[in-house]
Amino acid sequence: MLEEALRLLKKINDYSYKAYIVGGFVRDYILGIESNDIDINTDATPKQIREIFEDSCLPSEDYGSVTVISKGIRFEITTFRKELSYVNNRKPVEIEYINNLYEDLIRRDFTINTLCMDQDGKIIDMLEGKKDIEDKMIRTVGDASSKFEEDTLRILRAIRFATILNFKLSEDVIKGIEKNKELLHNLSYYRKKEELDKIFTSPNYKNGIKLLLELGLDEILEIPNLHKVLDSNTTSLIGIWSLLNVTDKYPFNKNELELIEKINQAVKLDNKDFMNLYKYGLYVNSVAGEIKNEDIKVITAQYVKLPIKSKKDIDIDSKTIMDMLNKKPGKYLKIIYNDIEDKIINGQLDNKKEEICNYIKEKY
Ligand code: ATP
Ligand code: MG
Repeated sequence: MLEEALRLLKKINDYSYKAYIVGGFVRDYILGIESNDIDINTDATPKQIREIFEDSCLPSEDYGSVTVISKGIRFEITTFRKELSYVNNRKPVEIEYINNLYEDLIRRDFTINTLCMDQDGKIIDMLEGKKDIEDKMIRTVGDASSKFEEDTLRILRAIRFATILNFKLSEDVIKGIEKNKELLHNLSYYRKKEELDKIFTSPNYKNGIKLLLELGLDEILEIPNLHKVLDSNTTSLIGIWSLLNVTDKYPFNKNELELIEKINQAVKLDNKDFMNLYKYGLYVNSVAGEIKNEDIKVITAQYVKLPIKSKKDIDIDSKTIMDMLNKKPGKYLKIIYNDIEDKIINGQLDNKKEEICNYIKEKY
């Protein structure tokens, strides 16, 4: 992957433009973390990049950058830029292309995200990013408060990087967050959730949650249940969102909404009970059990013991019932099925054809 990126850099350099790998990839490379997208910055304009890579460019989605697919890998090639003005503390409304790498780097969020690599694999470190990686420190490029005021998403990015990389926030970053945190109200729930998802899925998520709580962001992000996640053992993202219980504000798809509702119902029940295990299934009961710090092994062992997992497992078919009762199909079949299903799960009836037949003969 790196090799392919360096080949792209060489190609751009051959046309006498500057080009570097920049940002997350270089940061992760130094940290020995594998990353799967590579950002390249250049003084060539998007039009010039398109000319160089003709067939391998994707149709443009973004005004200032070109996506090149090479050997199946995606490269985002962005022209050096300066952001001139921001609206609503997010998204620059005006950008200006420049031919200067330094100017492009100082508009970026954190020093650890400003490292570049040239075509020979040499690291270019104009803003002491390497030192901050060594010190495990999240520091903004320039004054933190103005960076956060310009773009509030950076507050959540700071916490995300601190969480995932296990880094500390600099004093200046902490002060900048405290000063500007109210601005997070202007950010869409969609953007907030994207960052929170990344924090919650990190193995280090409890540290991230502690940071959010220490900085009082639970209140501003309108997730007042956040502290409950610390006391629970749920590592599943959907389990965490179930605990947070904010489906009225944050966006979820239909599947997720259904799952969250079921988990929240199952949390109130005994997750080792046969009927609950049968009704909600193993996954929902496990997540509910995790939320309550119960032993998932016990829940699984109980589930395995269920005599049937679904109606399909009942050892009798409708035809047998109809023949036996000498009746045509009708609503009565459903009533009988529900009844025997109940009896089997409650252990009052064995799931054996003969016993089921006897029971039906006697009762119906
Ligand atoms: P990852 O891809 O692992 O989430 P990343 O650092 O690559 O992390 P991206 O969102 O891919 O993050 O952005 C690429 C680079 O663009 C960053 O490294 C940073 O230099 C710059 N950048 C991204 N978002 C912002 C922002 N909100 N403000 C300033 N610079 C940003
Ligand atoms: Mg990236």
